[in-house]
Amino acid sequence: MTSILEIKDLVKRYDGGFEALKGVSLNIEAGEILALLGPNGAGKTTLISTVCGITTATSGSVSVDGNDINDNFRAARTIIGLVPQEVNLEPFETVLNTVTFSRGLFGKRRDPAYIEKILRQLSLWDKKDNAIRTLSGGMKRRVLIAKALSHEPKVLFLDEPTAGVDVELRKDMWDIVADLKASGVTIILTTHYIEEAEAIADRVGVINQGELLLIEEKTALMKRLGQKQLNVELQ
Ligand code: ATP
Repeated sequence: MTSILEIKDLVKRYDGGFEALKGVSLNIEAGEILALLGPNGAGKTTLISTVCGITTATSGSVSVDGNDINDNFRAARTIIGLVPQEVNLEPFETVLNTVTFSRGLFGKRRDPAYIEKILRQLSLWDKKDNAIRTLSGGMKRRVLIAKALSHEPKVLFLDEPTAGVDVELRKDMWDIVADLKASGVTIILTTHYIEEAEAIADRVGVINQGELLLIEEKTALMKRLGQKQLNVELQ
């Protein structure tokens, strides 16, 4: 397998000197699902924001499909899709316009057939003319995913996609992630939930206090640590 994402010695020091990432290195293979597990404040969002070029790294490097995130930001950014933790959607815009407009922002040519495909894949096609503000929380999360996929990224980051959602919606999200993997997208998601990593990831990384403590194949990790012990580590 080929590494689609290479992260080397990534350090992020915020203004004031707090070091949120203390030299994180990892490679992600094309087509895999990596779950990054960690408690509040571990550095998960910082890692995603830095890798996506939204936050500038203090040092270290990120290469996306061979494109350095600093030297070749536009190319790297086009390969990445980001589903943020917060629902940052325009409430009066329709679902279809939201996703179509997002594609345009990446300078991609209009492709109504592709937009229809992702809206159908996310069970949003029937809601395409609905204003965002009329949708349920679960549907809004689907729109966030559709928006992130609008420019056909190869790598999708999902920052705590199931934080604060009920069990049913969490399982829906797991199905969506599995479906996206089947369509060839590489996925990196962050989570607090060991059962989520167990349900959907190929590999699991544990991050705490800005350090990647371990990264392993899911099955090996589960066997070695056992669910109970890992839960304790994460508290
Ligand atoms: P959560 O699960 O609660 O979302 P997280 O693992 O995503 O947490 P981050 O949001 O990356 O953690 O935060 C890591 C650390 O960096 C925390 O201690 C946080 O307070 C700090 N931090 C985040 N953003 C900033 C900022 N802009 N300035 C200073 N410190 C920050």
